[in-house]
Amino acid sequence: MTRHRPAPLVLRWWLRATGFQAITMPWRAAYYLHWPAPHRLVAHEQAHIRQIERYGAVGFLWRYAIGLIRHGYWNHPMEIEAREAEYEALFDQRPF
Ligand SMILES: [Zn+2]
Repeated sequence: MTRHRPAPLVLRWWLRATGFQAITMPWRAAYYLHWPAPHRLVAHEQAHIRQIERYGAVGFLWRYAIGLIRHGYWNHPMEIEAREAEYEALFDQRPF
């Protein structure tokens, strides 16, 4: 799965420092602290990749930044959507 990959060293440091398990970049690639990653987490990051495809890289970053200011991380609409994809993945084990 070329869009999902283990994080390179510097990114692993950043993930550990921030407490995140993964990050999706605007170039539609998701990087994981631990690899292979749980299906649930891959589904979460895949949702962010769909958001980037929906809004474009700049639109994604803009909406994400505005959403963070307005809602914070946990209540961010794009994070809620990604968490919903996690829950769906619990019942759907198809590959991405
Ligand atoms: Zn997320």
